[in-house]
Amino acid sequence: MSLSIGIVGLPNVGKSTLFNALTKNNVLAANYPFATIEPNVGIVGVPDDRLKKLSDLYNGAKIVPASVTFVDIAGIVRGASEGQGLGNKFLANIRESDAIVQVVRAFSGDVVHVDDKVHPASDIETINTELILADLQTIQARIAKTKPANPVYLKAQEILDSGKTLSAAGYDHEDLKELNLLTSKPFLYVFNVDEGDLQNETLKTELQALVSPADAILLCAKLEAELSELDDAEALELLNEYGQNESGLSKLIKAGYSLLGLQTYLTAGPKEVRAWTIHQGDTAPQAAGVIHGDFEKGFIKAQVINYDDLIAAGSEAAAKAAGKLRLEGKDYVMQEGDVVEFRFNV
Ligand code: GDP
Repeated sequence: MSLSIGIVGLPNVGKSTLFNALTKNNVLAANYPFATIEPNVGIVGVPDDRLKKLSDLYNGAKIVPASVTFVDIAGIVRGASEGQGLGNKFLANIRESDAIVQVVRAFSGDVVHVDDKVHPASDIETINTELILADLQTIQARIAKTKPANPVYLKAQEILDSGKTLSAAGYDHEDLKELNLLTSKPFLYVFNVDEGDLQNETLKTELQALVSPADAILLCAKLEAELSELDDAEALELLNEYGQNESGLSKLIKAGYSLLGLQTYLTAGPKEVRAWTIHQGDTAPQAAGVIHGDFEKGFIKAQVINYDDLIAAGSEAAAKAAGKLRLEGKDYVMQEGDVVEFRFNV
C-alpha cells in the first residue's frame, strides 16, 4: 500500500517547484529508491531515520523506505471544470489519489499571480469552486443515467449546489465511493510562504483559520528546492537557520499519514530493512497482507521486537536474550515502531 497525494492549486503558486523538490530530492535519491513514472507522477521515499540505524545493525542491509506517490496536475484556473486551461482532463489525474493537497500562494515577491494579487482566501475559494463544479458534473451525469434517482446522489448534488465540498459538509456514503468525487477526498492545505515567514506564528494562525478544520502546513517551496541539493547535515543546518528542524516534505508526509490514519511498521534482516504502510488499528495478519496476500491467509504468528528495544539491545539475539522478543497471534493490533517477522504457512 502506498499513499498517493494529488497536488492542486492555481498556476504560479509554486506547485512545480515543490513537486520537483520533493521528487528530485538528492538526499532521497541517494538513500532511497525513487522513480518518476510519468512527468507528473513521482514516487518519494518516506524519510525515516530508523531505517539507517536498523541497516547499521544488520551490517549495511539495503534500505527500502515506505513510499508516497505525488501526482502534480497542471494549474487549475477559473473555469477549469468547463474546459478552461487544461480543464477536466487533468482533474481526472487526481481522481485516484487518496488525498488532495492544495498548494496556496502566500509568498511575496513579484511573481505574476494569475488574478493579479496575492490572496490566499480567494485562491482557495477559486480552486474549491472548480472542484465542486467538476463533482457536480460527475454527479449530474450519474443522476441522468439512474432511474429512479438515488437519494444519496441527490443529497450530494444539493450540498455541492450550495457551494460546499462534500468533505466540509461531512457527507460520505458507500454509494459515492465508485464516483471518485474530488471533494469527498481528505484535504490538506500547503501554504507556500517566504522562508522568513516559516516562524511567523501570527501568519500561521491566520492561514490555519482560513481552512480549519482541515490541516494547514506552512513551507517554502523555494527553500525545499535548495534543501534538495544538500546532504542531510547541510540540509538540517539550513533548516535550523529558519528555526525549523524538519523539511516541508517530512511535515507534508506526516500530515498525510495522520489525515488518512496510516502508520508504518518495520521489517529487518541481513538482506533488507524496510518500512511498510498500514492503517492504524490493523491486526498482525492485515499487516502481513501488505507484504503478500499469502502471508495474511497463511498467518501463524508475528515475532515482534519494539524498535527502541532492538536498538538498545544491539542485535536481534541480544533483544531475545533480554526477553524483548514477543510472539503475537492473529488478534494482535500493530503498534508504531514494531519490528516484525511473520511466520506463515503457504
Ligand atoms: P506552479 O505554476 O504552481 O507550478 O508554480 P511554479 O512552481 O512554476 O512557480 C511559479 C514561480 O514562483 C516560479 O518563478 C518560482 O520560482 C516562484 N516560486 C515558487 N515558490 C516560491 C517561493 O516559495 N518563494 C518565492 N519567492 N518564489 C517562489
